[in-house]
Amino acid sequence: MPEGDTVWLASKRMHDALAGRVLTRAELRVPRHATADLTGRAVTEVLARGKHMLTRLDGGLTLHTHFRMDGTWHLQRPGGRWRGGPAHQVRALLANAEWEAVGYRLHDVKLLPTAAEDTVVGHLGPDVLGPDWDPAEVARRIAADPDREVGEVLLDQRVLAGVGNLYKGETLFLTGLSPWTPVGRVPDVPKVVATAYRLMRANRDHPEQSTTGSLRRDETHWVYGRAGRPCRRCGTRIRVGEQGPPDKAEYARVIYWCPRCQPGPTPETVGARH
Ligand SMILES: [Zn+2]
Repeated sequence: MPEGDTVWLASKRMHDALAGRVLTRAELRVPRHATADLTGRAVTEVLARGKHMLTRLDGGLTLHTHFRMDGTWHLQRPGGRWRGGPAHQVRALLANAEWEAVGYRLHDVKLLPTAAEDTVVGHLGPDVLGPDWDPAEVARRIAADPDREVGEVLLDQRVLAGVGNLYKGETLFLTGLSPWTPVGRVPDVPKVVATAYRLMRANRDHPEQSTTGSLRRDETHWVYGRAGRPCRRCGTRIRVGEQGPPDKAEYARVIYWCPRCQPGPTPETVGARH
């Protein structure tokens, strides 16, 4: 599940493989940029902004990409067979003498002036894993609209950038909140913010996404992906539903929760789809 920590780690690996090196081959397999020639430019930096990736090139160009639901960059040595999926799913290729980065199922592939990056990421709130992380500001933004449901506001990338369905659900379990709780009734908003940060920071440097501290199969999450199974704390069956308006740009806004450990409004009481 590409959440902020996945994009952060992918960006770091891309940076390590590409930064400071000249592109010997570069293709953008999207209609808008099919003829762009980036060969001969050096990559200067690859960085994550929330769930967005920015690949900066010399000459003041930035390649913006987004994973959305199933995008990925595969790094491999040149000359090998590409293994990330069928060739028609390749959206970008960036290669130097030592590495090939093959981007599969990428979305929002856009080449733009580095000086104009704000047009693609300027709307984002503080990035959970970024240098601009500001928990007090995020708590303020969350509390700004007391009627919004906490499970919905945590996914709002304008409030904080990087949280997806996994960290949303696990954060709400660990703070004992029904996802449908209006933020005005959340007793400790800074604790919610701190929990989301702690979970994502703990998983930033490795591909596994564990919120429980265990890396054993089937033990990595409290509620996420566990519908119908017993809560690890109380044994109640974990429920699954959808919350908030459908977001075509990303993916279904799925929510898992324990009705006993997370008391408060339910889909039945708020009339949500479930
Ligand atoms: Zn429970």
